[in-house]
Amino acid sequence: MIIEDEEKIARFVELELSHEGYTVTKAFDGRTGLELAETGQFDLIILDILLPQLSGMEVLRRIRRTSSVPIIMLTARDSVVDKVSGLDSGADDYITKPFAIEELLARIRTALRKTKPEETEVLSASGLQLNTGSRTVAVMGKPVELTKREFDLLHFLLKNKGIVVSREELLERVWGFDFSGGTNAVDVYVRFLRSKIDEVFNIKLIHTVRGVGYVIRNEK
Ligand code: CA
Repeated sequence: MIIEDEEKIARFVELELSHEGYTVTKAFDGRTGLELAETGQFDLIILDILLPQLSGMEVLRRIRRTSSVPIIMLTARDSVVDKVSGLDSGADDYITKPFAIEELLARIRTALRKTKPEETEVLSASGLQLNTGSRTVAVMGKPVELTKREFDLLHFLLKNKGIVVSREELLERVWGFDFSGGTNAVDVYVRFLRSKIDEVFNIKLIHTVRGVGYVIRNEK
């Protein structure tokens, strides 16, 4: 994704990157860029510093709260302060404007090599996407805020999509052997997930199998 309000530059980068086989999404302001970034569906983000609505630096900080997606900052020439604070705030690299597209392409390849894509999995069901790398969840592109336990429970159910998982197994795999509470903890957390996902987006994600456990079904 490229977040850049100068549409000419954004379109130019999009054109060049699509020639290289990348799929590019453009955002022309900081807020839209951040919202898209929070879906966790991007392999790399090119982020301009001077942006309307939300500055590039603020977008960078907010993305870094939840995600380690590679970010290359676009900075004005000679703006040492921007470069330093960008790198301090977790940018992977920066490139100064105006730049040669070959240089940007090289930096993109380097940044992508540093990430370990085999560790990131995107699991989906009923319009929901869970990204294990950024630990983000979104439904139809809209981010869902989950606690660590809710995320882990949803992750385990998604990994076993189509398989009914018992409360005992969920407790063992998500809570761990040393958890001393009963299996109703599972029911409580399934309720939390339903209130944040099923009820908000009006979908049926987690099904109860009476007397057995829970399942996320394969999409029809
Ligand atoms: Ca700009």
